[in-house]
Amino acid sequence: MPSNSTPAVAQHALPSYLDAKHLGPWGNYLQQVDRVTPYLGSLARWVETLKRPKRALIVDVPIEMDNGTIAHFEGYRVQHNLSRGPGKGGVRFHQDVTLSEVMALSAWMSIKNAAVNVPYGGAKGGIRVDPKTLSKGELERLTRRYTSEIGLFIGPSKDIPAPDVNTNGQIMAWMMDTYSMNTGATATGVVTGKPIDLGGSLGRVEATGRGVFTVGVEAAKLSGLALPGAKVAVQGFGNVGGTAGKLFADAGAIVVAVQDHTGTIFNAKGLDVPAVLDHVANTGGVGGFKGADKMANEDFWSVDCDILIPAALEGQINAKNAGKIKAKMVIEGANGPTTTEADDILHDKGVLVLPDVIANAGGVTVSYFEWVQDFSSFFWSEDEINARLVRIMQDAFAAVWQVAQENKVSLRTATFIIACRRILHAREARGLYP
Ligand code: GLU
Repeated sequence: MPSNSTPAVAQHALPSYLDAKHLGPWGNYLQQVDRVTPYLGSLARWVETLKRPKRALIVDVPIEMDNGTIAHFEGYRVQHNLSRGPGKGGVRFHQDVTLSEVMALSAWMSIKNAAVNVPYGGAKGGIRVDPKTLSKGELERLTRRYTSEIGLFIGPSKDIPAPDVNTNGQIMAWMMDTYSMNTGATATGVVTGKPIDLGGSLGRVEATGRGVFTVGVEAAKLSGLALPGAKVAVQGFGNVGGTAGKLFADAGAIVVAVQDHTGTIFNAKGLDVPAVLDHVANTGGVGGFKGADKMANEDFWSVDCDILIPAALEGQINAKNAGKIKAKMVIEGANGPTTTEADDILHDKGVLVLPDVIANAGGVTVSYFEWVQDFSSFFWSEDEINARLVRIMQDAFAAVWQVAQENKVSLRTATFIIACRRILHAREARGLYP
């Protein structure tokens, strides 16, 4: 129950650098914080800390294109909160990246890292670019110049980037090399998600999808949903959605529909998931996959399924399509895929939503393992990594479930209760300085 002794919280003002009418994902995040505030007791005194990023860096990233012209791209790195440790979070390359988006993604990293209790704050970065339009050389120059521009901000004990949408191990290798060349010493711990030969961790690539699957299994047990024969629909079939889809299929579930930026495919009898993954690896998307019927993109949301996994971008489940969803369970592989209005619609329909801030925390959990291995220069086996990952995800999810039951709140608010208490306890204990 909300505490009666919640102290008055100072009225918050929006930072002037955001457009109050178009708050985007940051607005969604602020609504989530407002929902948790009544459950914070005396810590609510510090809640304003969560409603503004600690630091936001905007950089100009100029590069020479292959045709000799100079192009300028917008780059960001936002550190939302550093109370519990260095900043941690991915770097996204996407044409729709905005400051509001990177701020929200950095804040969700603070919540996520606290929810699984890894010793990090939250950060995120991005470049407003469609990397598919760049040659490999242009992509490398863009990555290196961006890394140099944010070089003062990042570091193995300051802020540690990682892959996110449209970034990968090669991009992390260029980031690590650029930072290392600029500082004069090889610093493997400056980024995670690196190739294995450069201090990367076994199991990191699959970690987010494995975490999605792990919380899905736990929630299915608790809510009496049998996985063998359960119908699954997945939006986004990259690193996260592809791995999760494969693990659910291996557990006997039937993946009936997959959507990505190249189209929507459907097969009521179940898609051959390894064949779809091969097709994606060869062609860049699910569109044109032979063993399936095509489906109109908007029909994806009303597909007859038990489990829906949004694993693409923010705001995909919204007031327009939430009412059509037939799934019993939504597992958020993406960050911020569900708007607050849609969250309420799903709740009223009795759909169980496993929120991003716990469901996709497997990636950063193995990033933490990678960073620890880099510091100690001692590397673990894949079995050891997967076993530790599963244990952390199971324990964190069990705690979220219990807090949700005790307070009669959604799993999202329960995750925020656990995480915000941890962050604000640290904030309070550290105090204000100077
Ligand atoms: N980009 C991933 C996420 O959103 C991973 C971040 C990390 O490993 O630092 O959780």
